[in-house]
Amino acid sequence: MIPAPFDYHAPESSQEAVRLLSELVSAGTDVKVLGGGQSLLPVMRMRLAAPEVVVDLSRAADLVGVREDGDALVIGAMTTHDAVATDPLVREHALLLALATETVADPQVRHRGTFGGALAHADPAGDLPAPALALDAEMVLAGPNGRRTVAAADFFTDVFTTALAEDELLVEVRVPRYTGWGAHYEKFSRVAQAWSIVGVAAAVRVDGDSIAEARIGLTNMGSTPVRARSVEQALVGQPATADAIRRAATSAAEGTTPPTDANGDAEYRRHLAGVLTSRAVLAAAAG
Ligand SMILES: Cc1cc2nc3c(=O)[nH]c(=O)nc-3n(C[C@H](O)[C@H](O)[C@H](O)COP(=O)(O)OP(=O)(O)OC[C@H]3O[C@@H](n4cnc5c(N)ncnc54)[C@H](O)[C@@H]3O)c2cc1C
Repeated sequence: MIPAPFDYHAPESSQEAVRLLSELVSAGTDVKVLGGGQSLLPVMRMRLAAPEVVVDLSRAADLVGVREDGDALVIGAMTTHDAVATDPLVREHALLLALATETVADPQVRHRGTFGGALAHADPAGDLPAPALALDAEMVLAGPNGRRTVAAADFFTDVFTTALAEDELLVEVRVPRYTGWGAHYEKFSRVAQAWSIVGVAAAVRVDGDSIAEARIGLTNMGSTPVRARSVEQALVGQPATADAIRRAATSAAEGTTPPTDANGDAEYRRHLAGVLTSRAVLAAAAG
């Protein structure tokens, strides 16, 4: 289907985009920000969304790229999935993000879709919120009153819902460095290039033969990504062996509220969470 008619703006910078967005929102205009368009355009074509105005960020060059800033990596919101997955800094200091991003969709979608768009979209089955949560990423939001930083744990508030106000943009994401940590994203889906039925993002620091620190985020085990804190705690000090990891992973579904849908019921997802967590941590510890 063809989207309903809309006005279109393509500002040349994030500052210009914020100014425009703020003017439109205060005038009561129904406006949508366009990132890579991989989620918004299908929804507009189905006429599930029919904004009066679209503000396209694709010309805002200041929103693209990965840079170092002290102890953090800073990833611009309009950096494509492909650029994140192949970036040498991301691979060295936040490998988990690169590995999770490699599992998103297909090469075409990864060349158009953006890191910021995927986080702002907040799809419970999306593969990037859980690694962002596991790594304690921080979202930098820009609005009419300046910038504010929101921890990933506070950013995802519900299904397709975030802490972003209507007149705010996600401009960049700050990720602490996990240099030398092993990482793995274990994605379970029925067909290639599909969203996760359940996904597990694991980053592990191994010291000698045992696990010194672990960070685990779960995809599609609730309305927002979830941290498997009891598994993280149970892993600390354990040998990095299959048996020890399997024992620690049994509590992966603790405190989760997975959905029931055509791909599986909640009980099946709870079972998957344990199995996939065990696999993800074992692979992360080996890497
Ligand atoms: C065939 C197909 C398969 C896919 N498979 C997967 C998959 O396996 N795993 C997965 O995780 N995802 C998958 N996706 C989704 C893909 O990752 C999208 O790129 C992503 O969900 C949205 O990113 P985008 O840049 O395209 O955002 P858009 O579609 O442009 O926007 C999505 C939403 O975020 C808002 N938004 C975008 N950028 C910003 C910003 N900077 N600030 C504030 N709000 C913003 C928009 O207003 C909109 O509400 C798939 C998509 C397709 C089409």
